[in-house]
Amino acid sequence: MLIGTIVQGKGAHVVTVPPDATVTDLLSLLAEHNIGAVVVSADGHAIAGIVSERDIVRHLHMRGGAVLSEPVSSIMTVEVRTCGPDENVEDLRKTMTVHRFRHVPVVQDGRLIGIVSIGDVVKSAIEELETERAHLVGYLHG
Ligand code: AMP
Repeated sequence: MLIGTIVQGKGAHVVTVPPDATVTDLLSLLAEHNIGAVVVSADGHAIAGIVSERDIVRHLHMRGGAVLSEPVSSIMTVEVRTCGPDENVEDLRKTMTVHRFRHVPVVQDGRLIGIVSIGDVVKSAIEELETERAHLVGYLHG
């Protein structure tokens, strides 16, 4: 399955946060949208970084509650690994496993067009297995 198929299925809306928003604002976004990571972007298209719940936990542990009033840019990961809509989900699964992150923004022509989570990748794997099983059962029962 292609990444683009997943993006089509879940919709192209990506929650973003400007780099100067506070970590408290970020917490609101994560809770409101029930998500685990947000792309950091000043204009909603160009990626400046990514922040996940793990970044918040790590910085809270290291520096305490003061981090809540700091800008998101102080805790974000700047080197973001992205993928394109024509890439294979299987390759993305390997990337996520090797690098141990659960979110990868999807970019086309330099613009953010979606985000794929490890949950989306697992869901697509289950769907593929179910389709394969249905074909095999159909084949065996003529
Ligand atoms: P996650 O597993 O997505 O919650 O993220 C774990 C760590 O990897 C956090 O420090 C994130 O900021 C970082 N991270 C998440 N997604 C990406 C990505 N696509 N590229 C680079 N770093 C990422």
